Amino acid sequence: MENKQLVSLAKQYGTPLYVYDADKMAEQYNRLNDAFHGVNLKIKYAAKALSNISVLKWMKQQGAGLDVVSIQEAHLGIKAGYEPKDILYTPNCVSINEIIEAVDLGLMINIDNISILEQFGHKYKDSVPCCVRLNPHIMAGGNSKISTGHIDSKFGISILQMRHLLRVIDTYNINVVGLHIHTGSDILDSEVFLRGTEIIFEAAEDFPDLEFIDFGSGFKVAYRAGDVTTDIESLGKELSKRFKDFCIQRGKDLELWFEPGKFLVSESGYFLASVNVIKTTPATVFVGIDTGMNHLLRPMMYDAYHSIENISNPSSTERVYTVVGYICETDTFGTDRKLSEVRENDIIAIKNAGAYGFSMASNYNSRFRPAEVLVQNGKDYLIRKREEMDDLLKNQILVDFE
Ligand SMILES: *Cc1c(COP(=O)(O)O)cnc(C)c1O
Repeated sequence: MENKQLVSLAKQYGTPLYVYDADKMAEQYNRLNDAFHGVNLKIKYAAKALSNISVLKWMKQQGAGLDVVSIQEAHLGIKAGYEPKDILYTPNCVSINEIIEAVDLGLMINIDNISILEQFGHKYKDSVPCCVRLNPHIMAGGNSKISTGHIDSKFGISILQMRHLLRVIDTYNINVVGLHIHTGSDILDSEVFLRGTEIIFEAAEDFPDLEFIDFGSGFKVAYRAGDVTTDIESLGKELSKRFKDFCIQRGKDLELWFEPGKFLVSESGYFLASVNVIKTTPATVFVGIDTGMNHLLRPMMYDAYHSIENISNPSSTERVYTVVGYICETDTFGTDRKLSEVRENDIIAIKNAGAYGFSMASNYNSRFRPAEVLVQNGKDYLIRKREEMDDLLKNQILVDFE
């Protein structure tokens, strides 16, 4: 998006502000959709990346289904207009009660441990189709917190437990219609993906009733210039070919699912903040902005790099700054960044903030969570109001002590 347009949105709605460019989301959606040929591709948007109900609705209009990790996300999806059957419920370490709730809603259930699968089988036998999440133990992912496939990971049913898994499925006559892997976020290259696929194709031989295989997500996007990203086009080409062969071998046309979050929404997002203060210390020049780790946690939580620009004064002399938040904790957005000269009240844009930005925001320090705006074809839509004092107080109880 143009700096001018972003600055004017910041003026109109105030800061801090999340802005999402729907045209960029459409570009990413179409790129993924177009990369696969001759296969029955289904895209299930991973709601947790950016779960605003208007974004969910927008994704549905593109033709997406939904991948949810909690029952509350499923309710948001249904509210946004999804058919329950188009929602894949992929939780981790939830109770059987939440699984039962999901079955009652009519979601497709993805089970990621044998204990719950046994309880599921005991209750439903073959009456409710389900998917199982396998862990192929492929080490991938940009950061140990977001890689899910390694041997120490809590996710999925280990490929090494296949015998046990099949025993449980046979004993209860469980109807497994889908196999799933998700090896983590920020997987570098399609080679890793393809290794995972070979493992799942082999495992599939023991599952005669499959209707789909879900290859998860983890597509890497560029956070800084020159970052290696997933080559979706070449992945699409290679995986389509391999998947077609697999379907021919089985004599059945299965669906190929993906559940991207970051790939679809990350680059569409701009997080806008105002400069409160320029603070010069003996060691550095800080740019203090009107937000912090409470609104964008990724730099602090994952050491994520987000590029930062001064969009109010883009063509002045560059200087070196460290951009920090207003939280009473060290919440650094970027250290030693070259920014076009920053003045108090300038608007700063933090890029690539569409995924795991607002959805991980909190009220820490009792700050209001930001507003969110979606821009489509040059028109801006407010999709979430900025919070107010009432929102902070809503569930708090002021006790009358004796
Ligand atoms: C988080 C998650 C995703 C989305 O991952 P991205 O890296 O955002 O694409 C997909 N599937 C599952 C099961 C997830 O937990």
